Amino acid sequence: MRLKDEKVVVCGAGGFIGGHLVSQLRRQGVSVIRAVDAKPCHEWHQTVPGVEFAVLDLQDRDGCRRAVRDADVVFNLAADMGGMGFIENNKALCMLSVLINTHLLLASRETGVERFFFASSACVYNAGKQQNTEVTPLREEDAYPALPEDGYGWEKLFSERMCRHFEEDFGLECRVARYHNVYGPLGTYAGGREKAPAAICRKVIEAKASGRHEIEIWGDGHQTRSFTYIDDCVKGTQMIAESDIREPINLGSNEAVTINELVDMVEEIAGIQLKRTYRLDAPKGVNGRNSDNARIRHYLDWEPSVRLREGMEKTYRWIEQQMMAGAKDHLAATPAYSS
Ligand code: NAD
Repeated sequence: MRLKDEKVVVCGAGGFIGGHLVSQLRRQGVSVIRAVDAKPCHEWHQTVPGVEFAVLDLQDRDGCRRAVRDADVVFNLAADMGGMGFIENNKALCMLSVLINTHLLLASRETGVERFFFASSACVYNAGKQQNTEVTPLREEDAYPALPEDGYGWEKLFSERMCRHFEEDFGLECRVARYHNVYGPLGTYAGGREKAPAAICRKVIEAKASGRHEIEIWGDGHQTRSFTYIDDCVKGTQMIAESDIREPINLGSNEAVTINELVDMVEEIAGIQLKRTYRLDAPKGVNGRNSDNARIRHYLDWEPSVRLREGMEKTYRWIEQQMMAGAKDHLAATPAYSS
């Protein structure tokens, strides 16, 4: 299956990754027949010329029927989600995204969609395997026995299985990628749903601008993570969608850093050093998480390769530009970003 020959619908296209995916598919000449999101268009992270925009609530079954009409390929990147601060405090809202994937699968089956892509998450992994900061990178089989992140992770794991059974029982071809912490320009950097890389950039920029050279870090700063640059995420998403990989697969960088090291990096980019305070009671997620990329290398002879320093420089500069321009988190009418 080549995306170039197919009619594609992107759900969650008003969001960070969905917006970049639509933009990249259009650059490659793919016929994106519809970009769908629940938010009004002026709140989308980016809007791409030449694409039909549909504002639809995809928790609703009729909304899903309208969304996937005439489609060959459906990308489901729609979910009610955010960084740790959001998912730890909004578990029911996160779990309600199960309605989006379930109704999209049902509508895709009804209308004869050829292929369905689901954006899952590293939050599906068993918490018991992420207790140490010196974490062994997570292999796909580490999702079982199931003990995922409460709320958000359970929804992702359940929806992964729903995809598997729609494929086995109804013949709807499904592809599932487990994203690991995606970051980059045009991502959310304020408002409560932002993730660590963008939040740290924002805090450093605020400290620099205000002259109060301090930064608050959630947790003790020793937690380890890997962060995936948006271009790698979009490229991997396309490759997995086109592939014959019938099992959930990691799509993440394996360059692990501690949160303290991430702060060091942003300070170095900004040319400043800040006094750190640690909020030990703040949501911080698991102690250690990294992606084992043996399977994606095996299937695709590829893995995410943008170095964190390079991706963070681009992300920092973009957020700085937005904040200096006085932009709020609503990225109204932002033109498509090309890296
Ligand atoms: P995002 O929040 O920027 O985008 C999600 C979009 O879904 C939003 O624009 C939102 O309005 C839309 N949406 C929510 N509920 C909807 C509904 N009922 N109907 C229609 N649209 C609805 O998130 P993102 O970072 O672009 O993530 C995209 C996908 O990747 C999500 O499924 C997310 O869970 C998954 N993921 C992201 C990351 C990451 O680090 N960004 C990591 C793991 C998994």
